[in-house]
Amino acid sequence: MSARTPATPERAALHQFIAKHHKFLLTTHINPDGDAIGSEVAFARLLRALGKSVRVLNDSPTPHAFAWLGAEAPVEVYTEELAETRFAEADALVVLDTGNKQRIGRLADHIQRHAIAVAVVDHHVTHDGFGSVNVIEPSAAAAAVLVHELMLEAGVAIDAVAADALFVGLATDTGHFRYSNTDARALRMAADLVERGVDAADVTARIHQTAPAGRLRFFGEALAALEMRHGGQLVVLEVGPEQFAKHGLIGADTEGLVDMPRAIEGVEAVALFSEVEAGKVKVSLRSTGRVNIDGVVSRLGGGGHPHAAGVQLRGSRAQARERILPELERLLAELPPLAPGTAAGGQRA
Ligand code: AMP
Ligand code: MN
Ligand code: MN
Repeated sequence: MSARTPATPERAALHQFIAKHHKFLLTTHINPDGDAIGSEVAFARLLRALGKSVRVLNDSPTPHAFAWLGAEAPVEVYTEELAETRFAEADALVVLDTGNKQRIGRLADHIQRHAIAVAVVDHHVTHDGFGSVNVIEPSAAAAAVLVHELMLEAGVAIDAVAADALFVGLATDTGHFRYSNTDARALRMAADLVERGVDAADVTARIHQTAPAGRLRFFGEALAALEMRHGGQLVVLEVGPEQFAKHGLIGADTEGLVDMPRAIEGVEAVALFSEVEAGKVKVSLRSTGRVNIDGVVSRLGGGGHPHAAGVQLRGSRAQARERILPELERLLAELPPLAPGTAAGGQRA
């Protein structure tokens, strides 16, 4: 395949960054989602196609649903010793799908110690641009969109592993082409990947038919207790440590839960307060399209996209609610009435 002209000066700088370095380490945010893992696996293929050596190391384990993607491009999980080895070996770090340095978890400390060159490829709005090269394009539906375009620009082959990985990133971040970030660019990318051999139905089955029964019971409990607030415009969900323990689940198992109440007619926003360990609350917010909720969490140190954002808070669930819900309700109170028969789309990670 022939190379294309890089779309922006930052992308040209990233291609130069790749040319200049040889031993790459890739990482992404804690509790990785489909876009995080998919972007890493595809980026690893890009680098390998260019003759680079590549390792992938994340703070958190790969969720079961995406583990098959790592079969040909192993995704390693943090230990202090492994991180020391991988940082010592590498001359460059590429961080994918991550808006700030803290979000890579325990790997963040190693960056200072090793004075490694850092590049970022991301699509979050809230960003501290912590790389020496930053390809940050919030207009992209997924980080995988950027990796796909970078592969086309580099002129490398998109093999079956890369194509599946890119499809997973794109499909999961667009809620399988249902959210408001599903633009023509995303659909063209999907078509390109299907033309390259991706079996969309098969990939979708692989990532959505992996749940243990306990996860559905856990969802059932959480959904049975959902609260409707603000005249039915706001749904609040809570899950506590005892529920995670009872069903044998971890924090990543809430994936998808916050998206379900979008199905309720008239809902504008959803808030999930997930306390995996006592005193640590992960807040996930979603908008179905009319309110931009990222500001509610960015002022507390979190971030994300206008229609999908999150933050980690210390304290009880009651304290977390107190810090989030009044601000969300204030935003909802500013909304003009909706014309009958219209519904919005929202967005995800
Ligand atoms: P989640 O609710 O975890 O699915 O995340 C929704 C979106 O918000 C994703 O784009 C995340 O990367 C982003 N996000 C979630 N938690 C945080 C956080 N603590 N800091 C910054 N961004 C976050
Ligand atoms: Mn993403
Ligand atoms: Mn993500």
